[in-house]
Amino acid sequence: MTDTPAFDQAATDRSAFLAEAETLLGPRGLTRDPELMEPWLTDWRGRFTGAALAMASPASTAEVAELVKLCARHRVPIVPQGGNSGMCGGATPDKSGSAIVLSLRRMNAIRSLDTDARQAVCEAGVILQTLHEAAEAHGLRFPLTLGGKGSATVGGLISTNAGGTQVLRHGSMRAQVLGLEAVLADGSIYRGLTALKKDNRGFDLKQLLIGSEGTLGIVTAATLRLVPALRDRITIWAGVPSLATARALLLYCQDAAGAALEGFEVMPQLTLDDVLAHVPTARAPLAGRHEWHALIEIVSERDSGPSLAELAEELLTGAFERGLLEDATASANEAQAEAFWLIRDEIAAAERAKGPAVQHDISVAVEKMPEFVDYAVPLIEQAWPGTQAVAFGHLGDGNVHFHVIAPPGVEGLAWQEGPGKQISGQVYEMVTQWGGSISAEHGIGQLKRDELARLADPVSLQMMRAVKQALDPVGLLNPGKLVPLA
Ligand SMILES: Cc1cc2nc3c(=O)[nH]c(=O)nc-3n(C[C@H](O)[C@H](O)[C@H](O)COP(=O)(O)OP(=O)(O)OC[C@H]3O[C@@H](n4cnc5c(N)ncnc54)[C@H](O)[C@@H]3O)c2cc1C
Repeated sequence: MTDTPAFDQAATDRSAFLAEAETLLGPRGLTRDPELMEPWLTDWRGRFTGAALAMASPASTAEVAELVKLCARHRVPIVPQGGNSGMCGGATPDKSGSAIVLSLRRMNAIRSLDTDARQAVCEAGVILQTLHEAAEAHGLRFPLTLGGKGSATVGGLISTNAGGTQVLRHGSMRAQVLGLEAVLADGSIYRGLTALKKDNRGFDLKQLLIGSEGTLGIVTAATLRLVPALRDRITIWAGVPSLATARALLLYCQDAAGAALEGFEVMPQLTLDDVLAHVPTARAPLAGRHEWHALIEIVSERDSGPSLAELAEELLTGAFERGLLEDATASANEAQAEAFWLIRDEIAAAERAKGPAVQHDISVAVEKMPEFVDYAVPLIEQAWPGTQAVAFGHLGDGNVHFHVIAPPGVEGLAWQEGPGKQISGQVYEMVTQWGGSISAEHGIGQLKRDELARLADPVSLQMMRAVKQALDPVGLLNPGKLVPLA
């Protein structure tokens, strides 16, 4: 932080603020047009709709810094926003209309891509898919992917510490960020883009900003880790009788495939049925029905050595012999692998099309997950007649999306705000009792802030509030999100 914050000059003249902001950002950088702002005022899941004084779209870090100073002077709250694909309402302003939405989408340059250092310096607004394509064009790969890759931005991924389907091997966003540039609440710029493998000069400030959901600073750019491009990949679709068997299969794959195992996702038959009903081009990978399905990805970056096809065959034979599979098929080409992943990536959209639900991205220890799901699913369905509880996702990380679908015919928002909230409370209590987390990857946003306050360890809460107070004493950045009030 600079030593001369401008908060003491607080003013409330909104028109003066808007005039200064327009002068600073120009007509492309600021809009109050309701039609242009409208898509950005509701979150992806449609649970939160807010209002904004304006939407600012700065074109550079310097503009972000000047805008933040201006907002600080006028005490205009800032809601940072990337692709608006977040799942917890973190990028949606409240209904008062007093905040600005600060969109980073115009800052979408890949400043550099160094094939020797295997690093890319990306501005916050670079879309994940664009980064994938850029890395691929240089024979490299950015090793994090998720269903929202067409809209999620680098800044949003960092601010939510996103996970996805490759965490098993490569870690979440925290593991991919080697350096960071951010604008703090007083407009000062934290310049930490230089990537050092070892650096023990005290706190790891970039890690403090990662996962802070826009409450501690505005990410403007990051140095990201790249890995060698894949030479080959095979995706296996397996039908298994139970989640416990899926977990045993995971252990077997970890032992047998070692570092070649990159992803291990699960879904129940019901979820597969929903995707098949929603996506006309999707086809069931296996002929029969199975209680659970596992999606297993094995990869190779090498041109030589044993072929991946041989490894896949060995894996399947070994798994059949051990009784870990009912049926399985391996992708014969890239199109088939893509078709399998399409099913996984379309789960969220299929569920949204089906009707209202309450979603919980939770984690418990990997080894406890089957037992947890077998305990929690019937408990919720019996307590809330007509609901369907499903768990799917990243079994390899001890993280499933535990979703409870509303009984047919209910009114969405009313159900979510009434019984849905009670169900969520119950799920989060169970997860906490099992030593798990109420947010494995989507963050807290406004959706879970009260639950964090209710269930988190008081010392953790005290530390979070102290950090927030130190870096943003007037609460300019993303008020109402993540950090519970004292
Ligand atoms: C179909 C689908 C599948 C998904 N699957 C996964 C998954 O498997 N794993 C997973 O982890 N996520 C998943 N997500 C969630 C989502 O993609 C992530 O939360 C993503 O990281 C958000 O990026 P965004 O740019 O859209 O951020 P936004 O939604 O715009 O913002 C998210 C949060 O970050 C803050 N923020 C955004 N940009 C900045 C910035 N530059 N500086 C400071 N704060 C900022 C916002 O204020 C908000 O709090 C999925 C989303 C969709 C739509």
